[in-house]
Amino acid sequence: ETLLEAADRALVDGVLARQLRPLAKTITLIESQREDHQMRAQGVLEALLPHSGGAMRVGISGVPGVGKSTFIEALGLYLIEQGLRVAVLAVDPSSSLSGGSILGDKTRMEGLSQCPQAFIRPSPSAGSLGGVAEKTRETLLVCEAAGFDVIIVETVGVGQSETAVANMTDIFCLLQLPNAGDDLQGIKKGIMELADLVVVNKADIDPAATTRAQAQLKTALHMLRPASPNWSPPVLTLSALKKAGIEDFWRTVCDYRTTMTRSGEFEGRRRHQALAWMWELIDAGLRQRFRRHPRVRAELAAISTAVELGESTPAVAAQRLLQHLN
Ligand code: GDP
Repeated sequence: ETLLEAADRALVDGVLARQLRPLAKTITLIESQREDHQMRAQGVLEALLPHSGGAMRVGISGVPGVGKSTFIEALGLYLIEQGLRVAVLAVDPSSSLSGGSILGDKTRMEGLSQCPQAFIRPSPSAGSLGGVAEKTRETLLVCEAAGFDVIIVETVGVGQSETAVANMTDIFCLLQLPNAGDDLQGIKKGIMELADLVVVNKADIDPAATTRAQAQLKTALHMLRPASPNWSPPVLTLSALKKAGIEDFWRTVCDYRTTMTRSGEFEGRRRHQALAWMWELIDAGLRQRFRRHPRVRAELAAISTAVELGESTPAVAAQRLLQHLN
């Protein structure tokens, strides 16, 4: 195991003892942009990693207003009633732009945020979506080491962020409105392919429209090739506001886990995610080294102009710049 400074050792011990302050401090370290904090965070993470992996990781997405926070609050309280501890994280693609977070805000889940068995953390606001996703993935591992049984990762419907969340969770759930079937926005954006489970929320408003949407979504899902030979994504209906259908939702998540564990796909997905994460970091690292390389910096502008003017082919230009990394 890595040698840790006393302060960081205390963080690790505190997280493993399931204390919230060390947990929050560790996440702050992870989210910090400072290089020395980043180094410390990696050491702490390395020490916590053997204690992670125990939670059910649930991704939840849907357009603003679909009822995500109402649903997560209802689900969270239900799970706590079952004796489980719940962490709620968020990947907010807008937080890096606006500096403010529209997701994971404590005031949006008032009941849940007051529960000692719940931990709600707003989206980090690192510079890019990749950075936000990266920090959320690390935070997820820390929450697992802190003994949370269920980790919910919330995001909004803007494509890339949903892919990022699907890539860090065991099951990706898509919330839809009862009019979803009419325009099938989800399908157009290719989000439907990511869904392991689709939920039509606000069923209380118009039960007939909800049933119609459910049928349309089932048909639409049927036309897609399922990601797993052992699981066809079901379409459930629910009212987060009236807390109707929450139990059914959770039973379906548990069925999914059982089925996927039996077929080996549950662990397979996690292994695949870990490797994909490593490659993402390698790609990012190489890109950074390339951009910072003094020879690349010296030549980049002139070579770019040559490509623009058609004096050099993109392939030759790329070769010339890349050779500096040798
Ligand atoms: P989010 O933006 O996806 O997090 O959506 P919210 O949870 O903030 O919900 C948006 C609005 O829809 C709020 O006014 C909620 O009270 C309402 N809402 C959420 N779920 C339901 C539901 O099941 N039925 C009804 N009638 N309203 C709901």
